[in-house]
Amino acid sequence: MKTHLHAAVIGSGVAGLASAIRLAVFGVQVSVFEKNSYPGGKLSHFEKNNFLFDAGPSLFTQPDNIEELFKLAGENIDEYFHYKPVPIACKYFYEDGIIINAYTDAEKFSEELSVKLEEDKKSVGQYLAHSKKLYNNVASVFLNYSLHKLKSLFTAPLGKAIAAVKWKHLFNSMHEVNSSYFKNSHTIQLFNRYATYNGSNPYKAPGMLCLIPHLEYNEGIFYPKGGMISITNALYQLALKKGVRFNFNQPVQKIIIDHGKVKGITVGNQNVDADIVISNMDVYGTYKYLLSNETKSKQVLKQERSSSALVFYWGISAEFSQLELHNIFFSENYKEEFDHLFLHKKIFSDPTVYINITSKCEPGMQAPAGKENWFVMVNAPANIGQDWEAYKQQYRRNIIAKLNRILKTDIEPLIETEEVLDPIMIEEKTSSYMGSLYGTSSNSKMAAFLRHPNFSKQIKGLYFAGGSVHPGGGIPLCLKSAKILSEILAKDFKIKT
Ligand SMILES: Cc1cc2nc3c(=O)[nH]c(=O)nc-3n(C[C@H](O)[C@H](O)[C@H](O)COP(=O)(O)OP(=O)(O)OC[C@H]3O[C@@H](n4cnc5c(N)ncnc54)[C@H](O)[C@@H]3O)c2cc1C
Repeated sequence: MKTHLHAAVIGSGVAGLASAIRLAVFGVQVSVFEKNSYPGGKLSHFEKNNFLFDAGPSLFTQPDNIEELFKLAGENIDEYFHYKPVPIACKYFYEDGIIINAYTDAEKFSEELSVKLEEDKKSVGQYLAHSKKLYNNVASVFLNYSLHKLKSLFTAPLGKAIAAVKWKHLFNSMHEVNSSYFKNSHTIQLFNRYATYNGSNPYKAPGMLCLIPHLEYNEGIFYPKGGMISITNALYQLALKKGVRFNFNQPVQKIIIDHGKVKGITVGNQNVDADIVISNMDVYGTYKYLLSNETKSKQVLKQERSSSALVFYWGISAEFSQLELHNIFFSENYKEEFDHLFLHKKIFSDPTVYINITSKCEPGMQAPAGKENWFVMVNAPANIGQDWEAYKQQYRRNIIAKLNRILKTDIEPLIETEEVLDPIMIEEKTSSYMGSLYGTSSNSKMAAFLRHPNFSKQIKGLYFAGGSVHPGGGIPLCLKSAKILSEILAKDFKIKT
């Protein structure tokens, strides 16, 4: 049903796109204003010398969030988007020569950990069962409801959530909880890694984050046909189909407020009227630049920013049969690596290296035949003015040395093309403050409660979507932020859904 309402969405990141679709389905007239010439924000891509590269996210979980949008819009997803399950979530390489295939089949994965790392299969089973319980009972409340609207929170299944949480999930670190289940330091390191899924430090972040492995080993991981960019393309096409209007190369300069109510935005020095404004821009920048509210922007910064990344996009002139879609080459000193990232805000000489190769799923399509497109990422501290040019050189040297050591090869002559992304570029491209990948980190016990809500308490008609607000960063959570805000907005504007 058409309403008389007009909404302006600032930014076309994945949460901006999902918010636009949801509002268009409500019958709201939606216009998206995007500063870049393309949609997707971090979820974008580029081509170089016939190698295709997804620029940002590479891991795809919980496709049901996307399915739900198509269902809501009454469109057949098969006409827009295809994906398939991937049997190995990640292949882990350790410096001592041990290699672990993290099968998404929990039984096979337990067997692998038992054979290669002498873990008790029962402990692995218990750990994954607990991860599932935490996810289903606790995360389902945190991820699907606003924590800032008591009315909505009271409709959530809080009893089950409280019952599932143990003391250790709140008061012990993720590393401590993982250490209580497993005896081999390699297994602990493998499960500690899940803290990086929202840019956090496993030695500080609460044990509650042990719910993340559930996604991979109980629900599975997926590959979108055409690479991660297909998610952006599918949502963009769906938004167009629902009548959303897109304005590219249009940086929004200001959100116009009158008597505590949104009136519109300023873009290209022109005012555009709107009853609703949804900011998909980092909440820090929204307050600082679009609302000129220094106090609020400083308040946002009381929460520690998540880590950032350095990415090398390498066109490789060979195929590596020992590699999978997702690969990790672990640091020998994980604790030191995280101390460097979060405490010293420096890079570490032996970084954990992640390589994503989409040509494994679509050979000859994502890279020329016989070649591979390597997305090589290392965690980096959020930008506080470090010398990134020097860091890039150091990281490049150390990454190559590590890969040469473990893969017993010489990578350098195989690098046919190269592009690099650093935290400064991440901020330039997407306005993500300090180049953080996931907004704020989850290192504090209270992090989930302290993220900015999906609505403004002071300004009527102003809403927030994306990785820097509730429930947090990463594609699934960004999509959920759009869902939560649309439900609040529907109530605020008495829209029948
Ligand atoms: C290298 C990297 C690897 C990652 N890996 C993963 C992964 O494997 N899996 C995963 O789930 N997540 C991953 N993430 C995180 C994920 O990409 C983000 O959480 C998510 O894409 C953020 O989406 P968003 O909706 O918050 O918007 P963003 O992608 O941050 O986009 C915001 C948009 O707003 C626009 N904008 C900003 N200010 C203005 C303005 N004033 N006017 C107009 N437009 C404006 C920007 O140009 C941008 O297009 C990764 C991120 C990076 C960078």
